Amino acid sequence: MVNNKEILIEVKNLKKYFQVGKHATLKAVDDVSFFIRKGETLGLVGESGCGKTTCGRTVMGMYGATGGQVLFDGVDVHKLNKKQKKDFTRRAQIIFQDPYASLNPRMTVGDIIGEGIDIHNIYTGQERTNRVYELLQLVGLNKEHGSRFPHEFSGGQRQRIGIARALAIEPEFIVCDEPISALDVSIQAQIVNLLIQLQQELGLTYLFIAHDLSMVKHISDRVGVMYLGAMVELASSHDLYEKPLHPYTQALLSAIPVPDPEVERNKARIKLEGEVPSPINPKPGCRFTPRCRYAKPICSIETPILKEIEKEHYVACHLFD
Ligand code: SF4
Repeated sequence: MVNNKEILIEVKNLKKYFQVGKHATLKAVDDVSFFIRKGETLGLVGESGCGKTTCGRTVMGMYGATGGQVLFDGVDVHKLNKKQKKDFTRRAQIIFQDPYASLNPRMTVGDIIGEGIDIHNIYTGQERTNRVYELLQLVGLNKEHGSRFPHEFSGGQRQRIGIARALAIEPEFIVCDEPISALDVSIQAQIVNLLIQLQQELGLTYLFIAHDLSMVKHISDRVGVMYLGAMVELASSHDLYEKPLHPYTQALLSAIPVPDPEVERNKARIKLEGEVPSPINPKPGCRFTPRCRYAKPICSIETPILKEIEKEHYVACHLFD
């Protein structure tokens, strides 16, 4: 059992449904549970449309929950009073996928970064200016950048600005919502390394959402794999990459290119076949059934429950019943 004191975020049976017609419900997040310890990174991966971004935003309270709980330091994020909400927004921040769309083009970078400082009235006057300069330097920019506008920066620099903005109010927890997906491959590693360095310096806790499994491995202590709104596997990075148990995780991992050309040539790639079922009014049973090469009759009848198969290695699959 995990010591409760170590846990910063606890997500219990979280559901986020969207009504998309009179009789149609999109179950974007359907009964998802996980926790994140203080100072660790939980990676959340899956194909686009699997619900990982909706999950991150519901954890942040940006979407109301249809069911379940998100406990931040033991307090339900969806039941905060005004004062608690202000406290939560100071302690928890989000970095978005598209750094350009999330930065106001009419504001200088200094004002974008300083906005949170002003809202929470943390520093004023020269102290505020110094704090903005400090943040720019912390993310690898310099103080002259503070007087420029977002369009004057490259994608990687804009993501650094987004990170500085998130850090401005000294949060403990950051949801990194696909922060590298819109960046060139050469820049992705720089941003991931910056996030790792900041975590070590500031003791941050991350929920790192991505579809790129190789980068997730680099930054995450543990990784959760989502498929059509459900968590199908959750384990330490090492266990998930070395001995994936769920057929979907195995297929995702087999698609990652290996740098060694010899190994890459001889590697068995598991091809995902069959149609991706719709998350709208999903049928009972395992949602991976139409694409799973191990599917058996029970798979299309009973929804598998996420169970601990080995220490802290959870899988939702009837192969492990
Ligand atoms: Fe495949 Fe059945 Fe496991 Fe789903 S529950 S992943 S269909 S074996």
